[in-house]
Amino acid sequence: MSIVRKLYHTQTARYNGGAIIKNRKRGIDLKGMDGGKYRVHSDEVAKAAQEALQRRGVSIEEIAKIVFEMQEPYNKGLEMAHCIESVESVLLKREMQHALLVGVELDELAEQGKLSRPLQQIIDTDEGLFGVDEMIGLGAVLTYGSIAVTTFGHLDKNKIGVIRELDTKVGGQVHTFLDDLVSSIAACASARIAHRQRDLEEKGKDFKDIPADETAPEMHVDGAET
Ligand code: MG
Repeated sequence: MSIVRKLYHTQTARYNGGAIIKNRKRGIDLKGMDGGKYRVHSDEVAKAAQEALQRRGVSIEEIAKIVFEMQEPYNKGLEMAHCIESVESVLLKREMQHALLVGVELDELAEQGKLSRPLQQIIDTDEGLFGVDEMIGLGAVLTYGSIAVTTFGHLDKNKIGVIRELDTKVGGQVHTFLDDLVSSIAACASARIAHRQRDLEEKGKDFKDIPADETAPEMHVDGAET
């Protein structure tokens, strides 16, 4: 790290630390600072991630269709409604929201020709050896364990449904990151269903015995969704 950079980091840390201590002394709840100078509120991040997906033309239903195709052979009574619920639940995870914000932003900047050389060319042409797009998608599936990791690999290779459409470049659109992000969301939602199925099986039930909103029971627990 250069001396200038070191100095900048030290000064920024001192400034932030000083501001936090000052606010604590004043009795200001730091949670109340969300969306302000120090920390962005989780609701704003969640909304921005969902909007990014919509803006790039990918619906929750299209991702749920991939989940259904992955999980239907193994889960008796599974319906699209369960898959939609699972995708919505995955989109509440901060890891996924952050990955979406980073990936979509880079795709959009590349589309507008706003990145510097040579990154602009690498992302614009979806350079085969780049791999950072896959790593962002892979990083976001780790929360959901080995089933999510192997499903992500399968989707990356076989490009099912909307993933194939995104991978096939149309006009001036850049989806270098988006295809991996969609694979990641679908892989996580599939893994959730696989684990939920075991819980149901042990209670002598299957998916036809539960309504869609029971696919993600933690959604009913305050604070558990993040
Ligand atoms: Mg890609």
